[in-house]
Amino acid sequence: MKPFISIQIGAVSFVDEGVNQILDILQEKAYVNALLLASPTWTRGTGGRQVPGQPFPDHGKPEQDEFHGGAYNRLHPQYYGKTAISADYRHTDPEIPPDFDLFEAVLPEAQRRGIRRYAWMEESSSSRDLHQIPNFPKALEHDIYGRPSNKPCFNNPDYRYWILGRMEDYAHSWPLDGIVWCSERCGPLDRLIGNRGRYRARDITCFCEFCQEKGRARGFDPARAMRGYQALFEWYERAGRGDHPSDGYFVTFWRTLLEYPEILAWEKLWSDSQHQLSREIYGTIKAVDPQKEVGIHVYHEISFSPFYRAEERYADLKRSHDWLKVVMYNNCAGPRFHTFVENMCRSLFADATPKEVYPLMLRLLGLEEAPFDALPTAGFSAGYVRRETERAVKGVNDEIPIYPGIDIDIPTGDDETKCTPEGVRDAVKAAFAGGAKGVVLSRKYSEMKLANLAGAGQAIRELGFASHRSVSSPG
Ligand SMILES: [Zn+2]
Repeated sequence: MKPFISIQIGAVSFVDEGVNQILDILQEKAYVNALLLASPTWTRGTGGRQVPGQPFPDHGKPEQDEFHGGAYNRLHPQYYGKTAISADYRHTDPEIPPDFDLFEAVLPEAQRRGIRRYAWMEESSSSRDLHQIPNFPKALEHDIYGRPSNKPCFNNPDYRYWILGRMEDYAHSWPLDGIVWCSERCGPLDRLIGNRGRYRARDITCFCEFCQEKGRARGFDPARAMRGYQALFEWYERAGRGDHPSDGYFVTFWRTLLEYPEILAWEKLWSDSQHQLSREIYGTIKAVDPQKEVGIHVYHEISFSPFYRAEERYADLKRSHDWLKVVMYNNCAGPRFHTFVENMCRSLFADATPKEVYPLMLRLLGLEEAPFDALPTAGFSAGYVRRETERAVKGVNDEIPIYPGIDIDIPTGDDETKCTPEGVRDAVKAAFAGGAKGVVLSRKYSEMKLANLAGAGQAIRELGFASHRSVSSPG
């Protein structure tokens, strides 16, 4: 087996450090044989230098950048014929020279070295810079009061055709081995039962004319769905304030569901629509070039939320993807899951405390991790990476490759767990022990310390894969 050793990397790194220099580092330290080139991106999670406020790693330019995001390659407007959203979405980052084209700069040299090449596309749905693109605001979701909101709607034809136009453009125009799609968001019910963060009414979506039409076609009354979500949002706000209903938060939640079964129907409509865009991306890429691969990033919620997990069936995902990058960031999972459980206890499980809810969540999710109070400093174990990889491999019946996302220096709080070379090494080894066919070193090279990157290389050597510098093209 020739493992797929890939890394997520953005344009600014190549500008700051030089194409050949970086490829040398990646090959020497971690045996990287595939690049996930972030373009377009409008999020700091995959684009730009280090996240503001975090210490700079030991490479790159230690200066704060003015990251806005966009595409870092030439765009071809002829492919965007069915959308009103502008086909001119090049970045405006001042750190990147206007004549620098990420693909022109990197693809030929990567190809010469036998390194595979992918366009890595984080949807960046809530980015304000993304929303500045002419006509983008017309494709936004509508909230529970019918107001245009802060993320694009999967059922809006302008948004769908803008994304599909991009897929056609990239598949036609560049010698890429494929694209990787990433949509890190969940539906309205998942948000209200305690997903990450606190949500406002305008985050509870979507009730635009296209979603309403889709809901009616399924036999549901959009007006009742909106009223149901308004009632659920009042419950959510009440739980956030600690205003205790006499029957408790959970019973009141369930009663609202019984009163408005449209709430569940609308959650399903939302996630079906997200999945439908993935299917259309797959079909569009394959129509242009059947040899090009379509991968997808399955975000961290798959580890944290049994409700979100229920909506992401590996058996379905395998039908419209050539491989899955499943996030298994074990270091930052500690603080992230700690916060996640706390959020659930300000919503669905507000009748209980995080310490009471945590052991049940571990059971429901098949996790075996440190006690609740120790999570932020302990992180998740390498065993988590192995078990989640095994679950994913079984889920796709081992018919497509699973490439676990490995955490290398994803920012955590000052007093929280940090990555180490040994920790990265153990996570990479655990991924392969679980049946992975490769790994995705994440989230971006510009935040990784070289010693921790080398931890991945150490695992590759210890596993006996180090002689494989490249992966042969699929037949
Ligand atoms: Zn909509």
